[in-house]
Amino acid sequence: MSDRYAVFGHPIGHSKSPRIHRLFAEQTGQDLQYDAWDVPAERFEAALAEFLATGGRGLNCTVPLKELAFHAAARLTDRARRACAVNTLALETDRKLVGDNTDGSGLLRDLRDNLGLRLEGKSILILGAGGAVRGILQPLLEANPGRLLIANRTAARAEQLAGEFAALGPVAACGFERLLAEAGFELILNATAASLSGQLPPLGDALLLPGGCCYALAYASAPTPFVEWGRNHGAALSVDGIGMLVEQAAEAFQLWRGVRPATAPVIRLLNAERGWS
Ligand code: NAP
Repeated sequence: MSDRYAVFGHPIGHSKSPRIHRLFAEQTGQDLQYDAWDVPAERFEAALAEFLATGGRGLNCTVPLKELAFHAAARLTDRARRACAVNTLALETDRKLVGDNTDGSGLLRDLRDNLGLRLEGKSILILGAGGAVRGILQPLLEANPGRLLIANRTAARAEQLAGEFAALGPVAACGFERLLAEAGFELILNATAASLSGQLPPLGDALLLPGGCCYALAYASAPTPFVEWGRNHGAALSVDGIGMLVEQAAEAFQLWRGVRPATAPVIRLLNAERGWS
């Protein structure tokens, strides 16, 4: 029987992870099975036990399970410990689970390697302060931006994160009300869960520096209002997180199988399938 892998989340029907991992397996000649499991938070423990008892070797966890996955891990990588969130679990030879967080490195690889952005000295705005932001703050700050502002609907959550990560670089926090007065960001990352439901935070017209980049972590078949906002406000690049999704998956695949798949052909294929060039 092939080694089993899966993504757990709720809802999970929209997930592209099974397709991505099957493409990676085909490309690298690895014999594995990868499925999507619909697992609400209250079923996580039972589902994990069932998965491991039936040959499960590695797991991706998405909304709303990253914190539960963090607590399920017997060992943690440094970046997972810093994020307090796990999106990748791997069963080691001693049958203990190691928890990793590949979201941050997936985002950085997409921004730098695929999209050619330089982050050093740049002014970066993050919208949102949820689990995804926990995973991306460390690598973003390690890229030495000039300024990083976290703006969240609930300002206290942004302030909490800025406090936790303050030792790593110039990070500040605010509520959405300050966004109308802010200006001049070279990169705006939308990490709110609102972007898929068509809601847009109150973004001032001068928020993005002309020629800057808008990047929505969420991905969809058509450009979201945030991606459209960027295109209408002088962004040189306004894209969603399909590249991040493929890159974080490649990092997980490497952890599980010891081989790194090529991501560019997979990103190209997914974009072609949704009619994006
Ligand atoms: P989360 O922990 O649930 O956090 C949700 C965030 O969205 C919070 O900051 C929340 O603000 C904000 N929010 C929710 N509804 C809002 C609304 N109506 N208006 C304004 N803000 C709202 O979720 P997450 O794990 O951080 O994920 C965030 C997004 O990133 C999701 O769409 C997820 O799919 C995407 N993501 C993509 C990738 C990828 O590989 N491309 C990886 C990770 C995550 P409050 O604090 O005020 O509630």
